[in-house]
Amino acid sequence: MAKIGFVGLGIMGRPMSKNLLKAGHSLVVYDVVPAGVADVTAAGAQSGASCADTAARSELVITMLPDGPEVETAMLGPGGVLEGAKAGTIVVDMSSISPLVSQKVAEACAAKGVEFLDAPVSGGEPKAIDGTLAIMCGGKKEVFDKVAPVLQKMGSSVTLTGPVGAGNVTKLANQIMVACNIAAMGEALVLATRAGLDPEVVFNAVKGGLAGSTVLNAKAPMVISRNFKPGFRIKLHQKDLRNALLAAESMKVSLPFTALAQQMLMALMNDGKGDLDHSAIVTFIEDMAGIEVKKQAATQG
Ligand code: NAD
Repeated sequence: MAKIGFVGLGIMGRPMSKNLLKAGHSLVVYDVVPAGVADVTAAGAQSGASCADTAARSELVITMLPDGPEVETAMLGPGGVLEGAKAGTIVVDMSSISPLVSQKVAEACAAKGVEFLDAPVSGGEPKAIDGTLAIMCGGKKEVFDKVAPVLQKMGSSVTLTGPVGAGNVTKLANQIMVACNIAAMGEALVLATRAGLDPEVVFNAVKGGLAGSTVLNAKAPMVISRNFKPGFRIKLHQKDLRNALLAAESMKVSLPFTALAQQMLMALMNDGKGDLDHSAIVTFIEDMAGIEVKKQAATQG
């Protein structure tokens, strides 16, 4: 059982680190906010004094942080992971960040003899709790093979998709498809509702055909019942699409639908909806039509 350091004990990091404890690993954990540390130490982890101290006491360091700037601070900043990590340590960053930042951090790691994988996840809090996340990894095959058994304690699908940065490119591709799917679903249901149809009937009619999808099955019922409790927050999805556009620009790739969806998400954040589920993208399209997608009975009654 590896000695693991875990940095970043938020919505995702807490249940993920607890699954490693349940699997029998010994854990040293750290977060700048003490509440997360208290929660995971109560489940059996030891507390680290800083990112550097956590890394110094570990063979494998996992980070689960909000975005690239936090990863750079926690890894490269004063008191960061690279101050404490010995040569031979493996760092796995599971945050969803720009692949360009993953590559920058990997280079700094390599200069100290530290191995690095980027390994963002899909699935959200329920799958983090169940240990059934989809984990998309970028890095060297021999490093991936060493850490895959640990990652399998947190995810049911663990895939190496290419060199460092490939995990985050895969995650961004995932986020593009999900956001554009929700926006297209919104346009479709707004049109159907304005035409006087019950959106639930329309959803049931199309879900078995080519337009059917996991996104449609998960999000259409939320919209129709007006339940926008997150799930996955608007502000996190905005961050992911911004990272997708920055990565695309660096490769001279044009992503018009992604840009449009990112602008909708930005507008929704300015409208005070940043903490709603991303299914609330539909409300942007509803506002332009002046209509709400909801059950016909509720509309009439
Ligand atoms: P979160 O904000 O709940 O947790 C992040 C934690 O990092 C916080 O506890 C924060 O205090 C800590 N932190 C920030 N800077 C730090 C530093 N320098 N040192 C130590 N700790 C620091 O975020 P989350 O929802 O757990 O998401 C983490 C990552 O996973 C994000 O990149 C997100 O996009 C991604 N993700 C989230 C979900 C989801 O449904 N929440 C799903 C898939 C992927």
